[in-house]
Amino acid sequence: MQKIILKAPAKINWTLGILGKRSDGYHDISTIMQSVAIYDEIIMERSTEPILSVSVDTGEVPGGMHNIAYRAAKLMLDTFKIDGGINIYIHKNIPIAAGMGGGSSDGAAVMLGIEHMYDIDVSREKLIHMGKDVGADIPFCLFGGTALAEGIGEKLTPLPPIDTVWLVIVKPNFNISTGEIYGLVDMEQRYRQPDNKAFIQALHDGDLDRMSCHGGNVLEEISAKLYPRIYDIKADLLEAGAIYALMSGSGPSVFGVFRSEREAQWAHNKLKDKYGQVFVTHTIDTGPRVLEV
Ligand code: ATP
Repeated sequence: MQKIILKAPAKINWTLGILGKRSDGYHDISTIMQSVAIYDEIIMERSTEPILSVSVDTGEVPGGMHNIAYRAAKLMLDTFKIDGGINIYIHKNIPIAAGMGGGSSDGAAVMLGIEHMYDIDVSREKLIHMGKDVGADIPFCLFGGTALAEGIGEKLTPLPPIDTVWLVIVKPNFNISTGEIYGLVDMEQRYRQPDNKAFIQALHDGDLDRMSCHGGNVLEEISAKLYPRIYDIKADLLEAGAIYALMSGSGPSVFGVFRSEREAQWAHNKLKDKYGQVFVTHTIDTGPRVLEV
């Protein structure tokens, strides 16, 4: 196969709890992750030159070897001893450094793209194992849908598909470094941890009202201390009719849950002029998909 196009979806964290700090500096987390219908588009072309190239259509993300997609592709090419080169073009739609996993999703899509292009026979377990060395969110992004991720994100428990949930996601016009926020986690503090078991039950019962009782993101109060606008966005989403609103990942994106597309559109209209990027979107059941061959 000479050329493929992939769609790499964004994610949100329905919940995010932090269980402890590990000796290697990472944190043990417990988070319910969810793919949503905002996609980067990735074109992959085989080249006769033995060169791997990555270019991106925005100056906000590095091209070449500093791109997560490059590291993911290189790992696949080296592990499976593939000669020849690949040109990768990334069209970004997922907000950058936003807590929506855009880089990890691009990396995961490229791994699956190479598996597809070169007809590689590799188990999901091996892909997860390889992916976690490129980025902690890559294991989830390889599969997408709804899943519980534990450890540093590599211990994945896929959860049954949920009924479509409509969301409004607000990305204010500042970025947050994931590393900086994790660096401020203080395990001596008594953070309010989400109850993931109860949240999963509420999700599968389609009982959106129970989300607020059991949900939460420990990183939210840390990020909001630095950027209080995060709480303003949350208040605006709730005021605009959201049943549950929470910062995703380490932020600064905040999502709101709505009962219908119509209610989500209404909230979008209300907020779109106030904030940088405002999306109406919904949950999806899959990870990266091959669009065209
Ligand atoms: P997460 O939710 O997984 O913590 P994020 O949404 O906060 O991720 P990303 O958009 O994935 O953050 O990007 C984090 C950093 O990685 C950015 O500073 C960016 O420059 C760099 N980066 C490298 N490759 C990519 C890529 N393909 N897409 C986005 N960012 C990339």
